[in-house]
Amino acid sequence: MQYQSTRDSGLRVSAAEAIVRGLAPQSGLFVPEAFPKADLAAWKNLSYPELAREVLALYLTDYSREFLAGATARTYGEAFGGKAGATVPVHEGLYALELWHGPTCAFKDYALQLMPRLLVEAKKTLGRTETTRILVATSGDTGKAALAGYAGLDGIEIQVFYPNAGTSEIQRLQMVTQEGENVQVYAVDGNFDDAQTGVKRVFADASVGAELEKRNIRLSSANSINWGRLVPQIVYYFHAYFRLVEQGAAAWGQPVDFCVPTGNFGDILAGYYAKRMGLPVGKLVCASNRNNVLTDFIRTGTYDARREFYKTSSPSMDILISSNLERLLYHVSGSSGKVSAWMRELAQTGTYTVDAETLAAIQESFAAGYAGEAECAEEIRARYEQDGYLCDTHTAVAFRVAEACRGEAPMVVLSTASPFKFPRDVLAALGTQAPSGDFAAMAALEKKTGACAPQSLRELDRKPVRFSEIIAPEEIRAAALR
Ligand SMILES: *Cc1c(COP(=O)(O)O)cnc(C)c1O
Repeated sequence: MQYQSTRDSGLRVSAAEAIVRGLAPQSGLFVPEAFPKADLAAWKNLSYPELAREVLALYLTDYSREFLAGATARTYGEAFGGKAGATVPVHEGLYALELWHGPTCAFKDYALQLMPRLLVEAKKTLGRTETTRILVATSGDTGKAALAGYAGLDGIEIQVFYPNAGTSEIQRLQMVTQEGENVQVYAVDGNFDDAQTGVKRVFADASVGAELEKRNIRLSSANSINWGRLVPQIVYYFHAYFRLVEQGAAAWGQPVDFCVPTGNFGDILAGYYAKRMGLPVGKLVCASNRNNVLTDFIRTGTYDARREFYKTSSPSMDILISSNLERLLYHVSGSSGKVSAWMRELAQTGTYTVDAETLAAIQESFAAGYAGEAECAEEIRARYEQDGYLCDTHTAVAFRVAEACRGEAPMVVLSTASPFKFPRDVLAALGTQAPSGDFAAMAALEKKTGACAPQSLRELDRKPVRFSEIIAPEEIRAAALR
């Protein structure tokens, strides 16, 4: 399998090259040149690590099977406590695919526990001996998941940039207490888009690359713009489908809908790959919070980022520029020329409109909706009181939208974070006065619900803070050069 660029369909690189490089020239994204066919019958009884091995082998054809078998077994075995891809019934026809049983309690662990292994192996294959410096812009969860995945690895350094006051207290502490000699964490004075734009600028700035090259350092990315981040996420769509069939919730071959709390459009895009590979997926429902730029786009074909940015209780979805949408546009329009023009327009004017054919192709697979803050809180309470199901703020947005978009098919909501990562908002939604601190709230939430907070979150308030620097978005370049 070779990889093309969304901005240059003439380019061809191997998977290893795409993973080492992160971004293609002219800020293009690497995409597979074809959709490999799934072997559903052969896969349906595989364990999660085995299924991951099979899916990855179709895309990462320059990696050996032995390597993939070892890496997936080590990643999705113990670190997920045997709960990788857990799919639980919520109520009639509605299921939660719980993706937060990994080490940092967010779905991003699925990609970021595996991707470091893919990167180290790719460098070996390509004979690369330089230091890889990974820059990550995060709205909260990616930062910690990336730090946990890359800490302590030889030949790799990682720098994380998060929006100051844009994350929950627990998310912040998860990052600034990260151990390891090869990690660095910065608060950026701005929102997530400021941090992401700053990091993208550094990648596009040839002078930064040249300066670092003199020191034998090469930049790479762990954001979901890297193919190595996306490909592991395809696996759990298959896994969820097989579990639903096993539980008698879906008939073999009948479609299942998925509703995905969306920010950068990576998680839901993985579902699109699964569908194109042959998984019976009905609709992929894109759920947004008040920052509903994607809802409007999927309904109308006009992407308009010229709008107010809201800070919400689902911060990982507080995004106005969803990078991975570019990959979808490339797949449905089949034209790097069109994609380049749209992205140029977006950068210059803040908006673009796709042609009717492209919009129709998108609407064939996708539906969209959004939920405001009050609806999100109502949903947390309704799922808890009616179904005994405790969910976080991001998942609640998706539950709400899923209800509005439900058809005949069973609906799987991707549950992307542990409710204990956002204990104050969850408590408040349940009608309990939340204590001011996140840790007191965590204890109060445990007491109220009888559920147990993950150990890795509970011990955070005892860990020393290692990083406290706040920088302006313009200073990201200088930080990357340190
Ligand atoms: C990152 C994240 C999302 C959004 O995922 P995308 O791939 O960026 O669309 C949703 N929920 C949580 C908890 C997240 O951390």
